[in-house]
Amino acid sequence: MKAAVLKEHAEIFVEGLSRRYPDLPLKEDPLEIIDMPLPTLEKNKILIEIEACGVCYTDIDIIEGRVRCKLPLVLGHQIVGRIVDTWRGHEDLVGERVGVAWIGWSCGSCEYCRRGLENLCRSYKATGCDFDGGYAEYTTAYVDYIYRLPKDVDGVKLAPLMCAGSIGYRAYKLANISEGSRVGLFGFGSSAHIVIQIIRRLHPSTEIYVFSRGAEHRDLAKKLGADWTGHPSEDPPKKINVAIDFTPVGETISRALELMDRGGRLVINAIRKQTPVLLDYTRHLWEEKEIKSVANVTRDDVRNFIDFYVKNRIETHIQIYRLEDVNRALKDLKAARTKGSPVLKIR
Ligand SMILES: [Zn+2]
Ligand SMILES: [Zn+2]
Repeated sequence: MKAAVLKEHAEIFVEGLSRRYPDLPLKEDPLEIIDMPLPTLEKNKILIEIEACGVCYTDIDIIEGRVRCKLPLVLGHQIVGRIVDTWRGHEDLVGERVGVAWIGWSCGSCEYCRRGLENLCRSYKATGCDFDGGYAEYTTAYVDYIYRLPKDVDGVKLAPLMCAGSIGYRAYKLANISEGSRVGLFGFGSSAHIVIQIIRRLHPSTEIYVFSRGAEHRDLAKKLGADWTGHPSEDPPKKINVAIDFTPVGETISRALELMDRGGRLVINAIRKQTPVLLDYTRHLWEEKEIKSVANVTRDDVRNFIDFYVKNRIETHIQIYRLEDVNRALKDLKAARTKGSPVLKIR
């Protein structure tokens, strides 16, 4: 099968961006497209013929060594495909259309798993990071970590549900939005463009302010129901009660807290911050302001979000690439020039 493989960590070359990791090789094409044998089935696993796989900013974090992974590695954790073979006992699943998300495995018995917080399991294994993922024609997954997907929607449209959507849904839940509150969304990429639609449908009376550096992103935010959009340096009409941060930089955290009203909550939907978080207690935290980070997803987040999607038909804005063009997709994402979520159309 054809697959895009990461053999060594590298800094992805993007014109105009300065070098951050002089110890890593600088590469235009960090992933190699190779022919490799089909993955073999192990106990309780299924084999998936992949239709589409989303490209996520976390993939850039993995390639550039900010997230630990196995090597060599097939990345990709927003997988949509069809089951073509299974370990014995699961044959009835052949032919099903399923998705695979970032959560590839958890222990099931630790204190966190038992409390339904499998996203915090210390043995958590991630798809396209600890296991080979979806930048390939086929992949395997554990049968307990797959999700049935609707059959009448194009696979490329469903791919962003598996990470951008389901992690966004987790961030939305942790934000604990109440009717009539003012919500600030910081950054407006794959995840935020889905989250704004969730908030609009579930909390029609909230006021939503979207902060983004990109004029195109601000236009899309308006179309999807933002009440106000602006550059992160601009002040919104009123102070916010809830903020969700989708950006890879630390400055957003202090900015969001400056704009926050008393008793507000900030949820950070990002694995890694590339620049330091600098907080002043009086300016940023006093008056009972809260900060909560989002780590990984649980299977319930993914299931609940797919249900929500099916009932509410959220729109996913995507930009399609071929598997052979995965390096271009990664560069476009790093340079913030993708229009919608980048998705590889594999079949
Ligand atoms: Zn992701
Ligand atoms: Zn566990």
